[in-house]
Amino acid sequence: MKRKNGFLGKVWRGKVEGFTKELLISRQEIQKRVRELALQISKDYHGKEPVLIGVLNGVVFFFADLVRYMTIPSKLDFIRAASYGSGTSSSGTIRFSKDVEIDIKGQPVILVEDIVDTGLTLAKIREILEKKEPESVRICVLIDKHERRQAEVPIDYCGFHIQEGFIVGYGLDFNEQYRYLSDIFVLK
Ligand code: 5GP
Repeated sequence: MKRKNGFLGKVWRGKVEGFTKELLISRQEIQKRVRELALQISKDYHGKEPVLIGVLNGVVFFFADLVRYMTIPSKLDFIRAASYGSGTSSSGTIRFSKDVEIDIKGQPVILVEDIVDTGLTLAKIREILEKKEPESVRICVLIDKHERRQAEVPIDYCGFHIQEGFIVGYGLDFNEQYRYLSDIFVLK
């Protein structure tokens, strides 16, 4: 369905609660890069069937696109974690409300996350997954934001690097808004 400017008519106002949003990464750039990542992963895991574990909720579109661009079979599961309550700053605490259900013992695992900021969420999830004795754990993120890194987590596959800013769209929200957008925006 074609919508004016690609946005959802009435829902799109461009300005919410004092913020304006500016296009940062277009849907075409996102798709091109996600396909590149998927092909790289497919090459690296040739002959294997990795378990991809997505971190809900923000990862949904990235995860779905990544898996479908891959040319090898994969198993899919999710973990749910949130480090942000509401607003644009971290609450400092990470809440887990869903664990992995597939038995990952001895399996190659790829942890898929929308954005890494402080790194605390990924570091914690990695620790939890390692206890389940997988064959390996690699990390794939759509966006690596460098500004506030606190925990060093090795990122094996990264879509885009940004220095700072709060971004929304393509699954990423601000108070549950903007997730549905196909492009990525920075809130100003
Ligand atoms: P970290 O634990 O690395 O600080 O935070 C990771 C989580 O914080 C991400 O999964 C995401 O939910 C949230 N987050 C960090 N930066 C942003 C951002 O710029 N925009 C949005 N929407 N969420 C972010």
